[in-house]
Amino acid sequence: MPDIKTLQDGIASFAKRNCYEGSAYNLTVSKGQKPKVMIVSCSDSMVDPAVLTNAGPGELFIHRNIAGLVPPYQPDERDNYHGTSAVIEFGVTGLNVEHLIVLGHGNCGGIKSMIQDHVHVGHESFVAAWMRIAEPALDVLDENDEVLSLAHKQHLCEKESVKLSLNNLMTFPWIKERVEKGTLNLHGWHFDRGIFSSYDMKTGIFE
Ligand SMILES: [Zn+2]
Repeated sequence: MPDIKTLQDGIASFAKRNCYEGSAYNLTVSKGQKPKVMIVSCSDSMVDPAVLTNAGPGELFIHRNIAGLVPPYQPDERDNYHGTSAVIEFGVTGLNVEHLIVLGHGNCGGIKSMIQDHVHVGHESFVAAWMRIAEPALDVLDENDEVLSLAHKQHLCEKESVKLSLNNLMTFPWIKERVEKGTLNLHGWHFDRGIFSSYDMKTGIFE
């Protein structure tokens, strides 16, 4: 694992390779970003979207949170801090991204905590409160709850949460409008130790 000095050396190395007069990086920074793709993913250190997709600077507008969830559209009083909705709003209405990807992943700690603690999801933890967004995903376990292993439950709930987040995205009026006009495309992805699957909104299954 890198220490702080190694990380600082990493920045110096990045700067040397990318930040010189007339470089593509400097040019993009001075003109302002114009990414066509936005990704909402988990904060988990193993699933950095830029690393997984081999994307470079300027290519992805990224928001990461616990379990990569999108809450429903809930405009309300000031002093409610909708970090995720704010980033989505800027990506969609400010940057006009053409693709919005929700990326779930294998062995997600957020999903695991929800499965293990869902009966006591409480008020004392920000994580527990945040994971309430994904609680409807637990319904997918109803029929076979007793016979499934925790790993299998997690896998099912991870994918169900991606579908849930896609549904929640459609509750944002400016997203629904763009999707219906065809100027914004929503995608649901799941990545688990080398196995990638993509959700087909027409068939309702991951392939
Ligand atoms: Zn996760």
